[in-house]
Amino acid sequence: MFSTTSHIGRKSQMKPTSRHLLPIRNDSFFQSLMGINLRIDALFGHRFSRSSKPVNSANPKTLNNAFQSVEGKNKLGAARLVDKYFYTEDICRIRLEPIDALDYHAGQFINLQTSESCNRSYAITNTPLEGDYLELHIRRKLNGEMSNWLLDEFEVNDYIHFSSAMGNCYYAQQHRKRPLVFISTGAGAGGLYGIVKDALHHEHQGPMYFYHGCRDNESLYLTHLLTELQNETSNFYYLPSITREKSSDTVLHGRCNQYVMANLMLFSNAVFYISGNAGMVKDTRSQLIEKGIQPKDILVMPFESKDLRKTPRDQ
Ligand SMILES: Cc1cc2nc3c(=O)[nH]c(=O)nc-3n(C[C@H](O)[C@H](O)[C@H](O)COP(=O)(O)OP(=O)(O)OC[C@H]3O[C@@H](n4cnc5c(N)ncnc54)[C@H](O)[C@@H]3O)c2cc1C
Repeated sequence: MFSTTSHIGRKSQMKPTSRHLLPIRNDSFFQSLMGINLRIDALFGHRFSRSSKPVNSANPKTLNNAFQSVEGKNKLGAARLVDKYFYTEDICRIRLEPIDALDYHAGQFINLQTSESCNRSYAITNTPLEGDYLELHIRRKLNGEMSNWLLDEFEVNDYIHFSSAMGNCYYAQQHRKRPLVFISTGAGAGGLYGIVKDALHHEHQGPMYFYHGCRDNESLYLTHLLTELQNETSNFYYLPSITREKSSDTVLHGRCNQYVMANLMLFSNAVFYISGNAGMVKDTRSQLIEKGIQPKDILVMPFESKDLRKTPRDQ
C-alpha cells in the first residue's frame, strides 16, 4: 500500500504530478461530502479571505502546550541518510537510519541540527513498523537555510545530528472508534499521513477524513498515495483542496479549514489533528474551540519558525 520507491536522487528524476490520476470515489457518503463541499465552494469558494495573521506568528508553546521548545534541550543522536525521493521539485522525502534505536510515534517531530545555529523541527511521517528508519517530508522554503540544504546538498550516506522525538500529535488507541479529522497544509500532510498509517495498523474503526490544502494541484504531493488508500479503505476519505487553481470533481477550491468548519456537524465526537502553516493551525484550533470542541480533542503541529531565528535577516 505504501510507496516503496528506492533512492531516486535529484530534481531531474522527480515523480510526475498525479493531478489527473485521482478517481472519483464511488461511495454515496463520500459523494455527498464532496457535494456539500462543492456547494459550499460555489457559495463561498472564491471569496475565502486570507487570514490577517502573518504566517508563523504563533508561539507553539501557547498552542495547547503541544510540545517543548523547538530548540530542543535533549541529547542529539546521529543518523545516516539512506533514501531521498523528490515528490516535486520543492517537496522531498528523506529516510534517516539512526545509529541508536529511537522511541517515537508517527506524527511526533525531531529536530535536525547541522550547526550550533541551524536547528529545525520536522514531523515523523512513518511508523516504527515500516522499517528501521525515520521518514521526514521536507518542503523547500524560499531562501531557507535548512530546507534548501536538505534538498540540494544532503546526500545518501551523509550523517546528520537529530534530537529524540517530541510532541503529543500522534494516534491514541483509546480513540479507535471515534471519527478522526485531519487538517493539513503543505508538508503538514506528511506527519498526519503517518498518523493515519498508525491508526490503520491499530485497526481504527471510526471514519477518517483527510483534508489537505495547498496552493495548486502539484503541491498536493500525496494525492497518489491517499487516493490509493481511499480506494482500499472503506473508512478513509481524502478531501484535497487548492486555492490558486481551478477545482475539479475531486479537488475542492478554497481553504481546507473552511471546509472542515462548514461540515462540522458531520464530525460529532471527532478527534482533530491539525498540522502545517502555523497561522492556519492556530486559527482553526481557536475556531473549533469556539464551536464547543474540547481542547483535549485537538492535537496540533504548527510549523513555527520564528523562534529559530536568532537575529533579524539584515544583521
Ligand atoms: C514542530 C514543527 C514541525 C515541523 N515539521 C515540518 C515538516 O514536517 N516539514 C517541513 O517542511 N517543515 C516543517 N517544519 C518547519 C521547519 O522546522 C523549518 O522551519 C522549515 O523547514 C524552514 O527552515 P529553513 O531553515 O529552510 O528556513 P529558515 O532559514 O528558517 O527561513 C524560513 C523563512 O524565513 C526567512 N528568514 C530566514 N531567516 C530570517 C531572518 N533572520 N529574518 C527574517 N526572515 C528570515 C527565510 O527567507 C524563509 O522564507 C516544522 C516546524 C515545527 C516547529
